[in-house]
Amino acid sequence: MEWDTIAAISTPPGEGAIAIIRLSGDGAMKIGDRLYRGKTALQDVDTHTINYGHLVHPTREEVIEEVMVSVLHAPRTFTKEDMIEINVHGGVVSADRVLQHVLAEGARLAEPGEFTKRAFLNGRIDLSQAEGVMDMIRAKTDRAMSVAMKQLEGRLAREIKHLRQQLLEGIASVEVNIDYPEYDADDVTLTSLYTQIQAVDVEIDKLLKTAKQGKILREGLATAIIGRPNVGKSSLLNTLVQDAKAIVTDIPGTTRDVLEEYVNVNGVPLRLIDTAGIRDTEDTVEKIGVERSRQALQDAELILLVFNANEPLTKEDEALIEASIDFDVIVVLNKTDLPKKIDEERLQQLVPNRPIVRTALLQEEGVSALEEAIGSLFFEQGVEAIDMNYVSNTRHIALLHQAKTSIHEALTSAEDGMPIDMVQIDVTRAWEQLGEIVGETAPDQLIDQLFSQFCLGK
Ligand code: GDP
Repeated sequence: MEWDTIAAISTPPGEGAIAIIRLSGDGAMKIGDRLYRGKTALQDVDTHTINYGHLVHPTREEVIEEVMVSVLHAPRTFTKEDMIEINVHGGVVSADRVLQHVLAEGARLAEPGEFTKRAFLNGRIDLSQAEGVMDMIRAKTDRAMSVAMKQLEGRLAREIKHLRQQLLEGIASVEVNIDYPEYDADDVTLTSLYTQIQAVDVEIDKLLKTAKQGKILREGLATAIIGRPNVGKSSLLNTLVQDAKAIVTDIPGTTRDVLEEYVNVNGVPLRLIDTAGIRDTEDTVEKIGVERSRQALQDAELILLVFNANEPLTKEDEALIEASIDFDVIVVLNKTDLPKKIDEERLQQLVPNRPIVRTALLQEEGVSALEEAIGSLFFEQGVEAIDMNYVSNTRHIALLHQAKTSIHEALTSAEDGMPIDMVQIDVTRAWEQLGEIVGETAPDQLIDQLFSQFCLGK
C-alpha cells in the first residue's frame, strides 16, 4: 500500500538529552535530504545505518541543528515503510523547529498512533499486537510489562488464529455439505462440527480464566483500606506506599500521578482507592463511618479490613465486616505487639474463609506476609510463577465472551436438531467475533478509535 509521508516527534515533550523526529513513508529520505547535509545523502546511505550530519535551512543554507539520522529502508522497519529518525539535541524548541521544517518540506503531521497503525495496516502486526504496544507504554509494573510484551510477540494472536481456523474448518465442512446435497452426510457433518466447536469452547474458557488476573496486572487492583479510626489504616497505607516507591520510581517516565495512585505489591499493582473519608469519624460515627465505607467499597476489588488486636471487637467493627462481606477481603489484625484483647475466634467466625494476617505496623512486622496474602488471593500459583498467556484487554475479554455466547447458541441449536445451516450461522458469528480481536474482521471505525488512544509519534 502507498501513503503520504508522516512525521512526528516521538520522544516525550520537555527537556532531555536527545529528541527524535520520526518520518515514515515513500518520501522520508527525500524530505530528509532537503534539510540534511552530511558525508553522503540519506537516499544513498545503506539501510539500518545511523549518520552524522547537520540540518540546514532549506533556502538560506544556515545550520539549524547537529544531528544523527537513522536510515531504515522498507520493509524491515516498524511501519514496513521507508523511515528516518532524526536525533536532535533534546529540548522543546529544537525538536519542534526541526518538525516544522520537515512538515514544510512535504511531510504531514502524524496522528496519534499512526506509525503503529501503519504497521498494522501493512500487515507487520495484528490488532492485538498493536494493543500490546500501547499496553507496554502504559505498563505500571514489570509484570504488566511482560504481559504486554507477550501480547506484542503475538502469542494471543496465534492462539486466536488457531481457534478461528478450527471454526473455519467446521464452517467449510458445512458448506461442502450444502453445495453437494447428494452426499447427504448431514449427521456426520453435524457431529464433527459439534465436536469441533466444543473444543473451541473449552479453549475460550481457558483464555477467559486468565482474564481476571490479566486485567489486574494491566489495570491494577482497586483496593480499599477499611477500619475503625485508629486501628492503623494510615500506617498500612504508608507502609505499602513506602515499600512500593523505590520500585515504581525505577521505571523511567513514571509520573507522580502514577506514583500516588499505584503501589506495586510483589508485582501486583494495587490502585488505592481514597478512603480518607472513613478516617475522621467521630460520635455520630457509626452510621456515617459505615455509610462512607460503603461508598468507597463500591469500586473496590480488594478490601484490606483492619482491626486493632489490642481492643475488643466493637459494633462498628462488626458493621464494617457486614459491609464488606461480598468482597475479596484480607483481614489485617494490627497492633499485635500490644497485649491481645480482641476475641480472635469470634473474629474468625465473623469472617469465615478469609485470610487473616497479623501485623505490628509500627514495627513493620507482618508486612511481607500481607503482601504474600494479596498475591496468593489473586494468583493461585503465586505471582512469580507466571509465564502464561494472559488476556488483559477489556476489548478482547468482551469479544471472547461474545464468541462464547455464539458458540453456545450453536451448540444448543445442534442439540435441538436445528438445520445445520442455522448452526453454521452462529459458528460464523463466533468466527467473526474472534477475528475482531486480531483485527481481521474489525470495522474501520473501531481501528481508528483504537489507534487514536496512542501517544503522538508512536
Ligand atoms: P488510622 O486512624 O486507622 O489511620 O490509624 P493510624 O495509622 O493513624 O494509627 C493510629 C495510631 O496507632 C498511631 O498512633 C500509630 O502510630 C499507632 N499504630 C499503628 N500501628 C500500630 C502497631 O502495630 N502497634 C502499635 N503499638 N501502634 C500502632
